Amino acid sequence: MSRPPKKKIRKKKLFKEPLQSPKGTHDIFYPEILHFTRLERICSELAEFFGYKRIEVPVIENKALFEHGVGIGTDIVDKETYTFQTKGGDWLSLRPEFTSGIVRSYIQNSMDNWPEPVKLWSWGPLFRYENPQAGRYRQFWQADFEFFGPLDPIVDAELILLATKIVKIFGIKQSFVEINSIGCPECRANYRKVLKQYYHTKTRKLCSDCKVRFKKNILRLLDCKNETCQEIKKGAPEILNYLCKDCSSHFQKVIEYLDLLGIAYILNPQLVRGLDYYNRTVFELKAGLAEDAAKAPALLGGGRFDYLMKLLSGPDVPACGFAIGVERMIELAANKEENEDVDVYLAQIGDSARHKLIVLLEEFRKAKIKIGFDLARDSLKAQLKSADRLDAPFALILGQEEVLHDKIIIRDMKSSLQETINLADVVEEVKKRLAKLKS
Ligand code: AMP
Repeated sequence: MSRPPKKKIRKKKLFKEPLQSPKGTHDIFYPEILHFTRLERICSELAEFFGYKRIEVPVIENKALFEHGVGIGTDIVDKETYTFQTKGGDWLSLRPEFTSGIVRSYIQNSMDNWPEPVKLWSWGPLFRYENPQAGRYRQFWQADFEFFGPLDPIVDAELILLATKIVKIFGIKQSFVEINSIGCPECRANYRKVLKQYYHTKTRKLCSDCKVRFKKNILRLLDCKNETCQEIKKGAPEILNYLCKDCSSHFQKVIEYLDLLGIAYILNPQLVRGLDYYNRTVFELKAGLAEDAAKAPALLGGGRFDYLMKLLSGPDVPACGFAIGVERMIELAANKEENEDVDVYLAQIGDSARHKLIVLLEEFRKAKIKIGFDLARDSLKAQLKSADRLDAPFALILGQEEVLHDKIIIRDMKSSLQETINLADVVEEVKKRLAKLKS
């Protein structure tokens, strides 16, 4: 194939060094993108199976939504949310999480008129101004599942089941659930008092963040990763001992359901999660063995948020959900080798063959046969090499001679045996050979 020569145009370079992506952001491309799309597909398939409908909410929301939803005094709102004023004077934030936006949408679109329960899921980028480190980004992706409906412990268990299924199907071999209950506002008020008493004499030893947390949001002290704070935390009273009767019985039932479903979990009385809206059940799903729980990275986190809807001036609807960290999942996937094999490779020689092949591609697509091809390449040797790399069991070769007689060559890549067949029969013939190969 003769290509037009590239014109030489002299241009001054704009930058001394090429620009880099902003700190804490990353490009997702081959081969990582294969895991990314596979995870999205798994989430989508399981969402459908469990009855969750997809929702897309804006990346920008009113600043006040997160301040009231996630809560002032949380790290996410106080330190990590990207907030800016528009030219029109509005204060907006880039979403640091999904839940608040989905609840806002539920209220705005009167989803309480839909048949109960309303089950929604989403997939997309989130933004947190964090210190970038391994597995922690300023723009990262989550898959998010939210259940709005009856306040029943089976809902919590069903969500945890869905979460464990996604993780397992994605290929994370070892994982376990960490679970706790942080009760209702009443239980928490009592617990805050005893926690305050416990920490009262220890504030001098706390890290600077925890000194602030002690005054502003004492439960957050249990979230701190600082070593000294972690040591002090070990002796702290446990919230499970301060739950009211209803919260206690709810938690007991969630645990019973997990036992019934055979889901491995450990109780972590210090799990509080970094967002204010949670109540009762909170959980994380971690990769690895339960013995190494303290060091294990969390793949996903979630819990109940029965009061958030009302807090945001909506109806009184209980809710429960979780969010999966997509990058974490990809980093920890056991099967790093994503399979990009094809069923058949289509090779062509010459312009007329290329034209015929474009039509043929569509027929294979309709037949759902995975094909490999490279229309910009004209060397047969190079194309057959690609067929080998993609592990195609067959290659189809279309040259000028074949085009002239409405034929095509089918080559068995293993034995190198070739046969010329009618072009009109090619899709059926490939189907037949693939079926034979799989049987
Ligand atoms: P959260 O929304 O904080 O409950 O987090 C849920 C999951 O999202 C975590 O378990 C992580 O897997 C993931 N995640 C949270 N923050 C980040 C981040 N900055 N970068 C990458 N993944 C994150």
